Amino acid sequence: MTRSLLLPSTLSACELCPRRCRADRAAGERGVCGATDTLRLARAALHFWEEPPISGEEGSGTVFFSGCPLKCVYCQNHEISTGNFGIDVSPERLAQIMLELQDQGALNINLVTATHYAHLLPEAIAAARAQGLAIPIVYNTSGYERVEAVRELDDLVDIWLTDFKYADAGLGRALSHVPDYPSVAQSALIEMARQLERHGGGAARADGTWTRGIIVRHLVLPGHTEDSCRVLDLIWDAVGDVPISVMNQYTPNAAMRAAGGELARAVTREEYERVLDHADDLGFTQMFWQEGGAVDESFTPPFDTTGVLERADAR
Ligand code: SF4
Repeated sequence: MTRSLLLPSTLSACELCPRRCRADRAAGERGVCGATDTLRLARAALHFWEEPPISGEEGSGTVFFSGCPLKCVYCQNHEISTGNFGIDVSPERLAQIMLELQDQGALNINLVTATHYAHLLPEAIAAARAQGLAIPIVYNTSGYERVEAVRELDDLVDIWLTDFKYADAGLGRALSHVPDYPSVAQSALIEMARQLERHGGGAARADGTWTRGIIVRHLVLPGHTEDSCRVLDLIWDAVGDVPISVMNQYTPNAAMRAAGGELARAVTREEYERVLDHADDLGFTQMFWQEGGAVDESFTPPFDTTGVLERADAR
């Protein structure tokens, strides 16, 4: 398969993500995402707080990529998404990291916000597979993806774990600084569902953890339940009864607390239940939801470069 979008040569005027900012990353320029042509990672470790079919008992092998094409004002991972915290590594090291996570018992390799490094994934995953990587690849994304990129990643990705953040483009503009989030996310989602179908649909191990599938995540924002319900409408219209994960873990960061207003607080029980009820009304039959209140620090791991560098005594 020709990976035209994912060829490293495209980085001289990068259009890898829907921002198409055309940064000359090959010459060292940073794109809006904060990335140059060098892979940068913030953490690689087992994570136990994804949805049960992803984390299981053993944990998901999460790899957090530094930088992000979106600039969500309420981001929980702002040190890495906007601050670009991390360590530069080679694609060969990324392949080793995948194998190390597999050795630690990970159920899968969970690539968190790899959109702006997607051109390096084919080489890294192929190298890891050649050296014995046998667990599924999870592509954990904001949903702001080009359809072409989804297509080109198709034969590499086993599980799509994709956000659908906003139904109102104005809200996406105000909170994530992109003009076209809903239409982009809907097109990308349709393509992900199509690719999964082409591979025969979802598949699971005997213990219920997944080897192939899709989950569409939505984080309910305080004061924006109407938009959350419209997001569910868009998902239903696009792909029908897909597994969804409706999350109430919104935690105001320091900037949001300082700014005041709706985004300075957590989501109320009533707000969350209203969105869950709407999902029920639409007919979603496979839904993940969170118990208790919002705000649990365990959802946001420390970004301390754990697992990124090769240990001196390793291998
Ligand atoms: S991936 Fe980064 S550099 Fe490339 S178009 Fe998107 S924001 Fe710009």
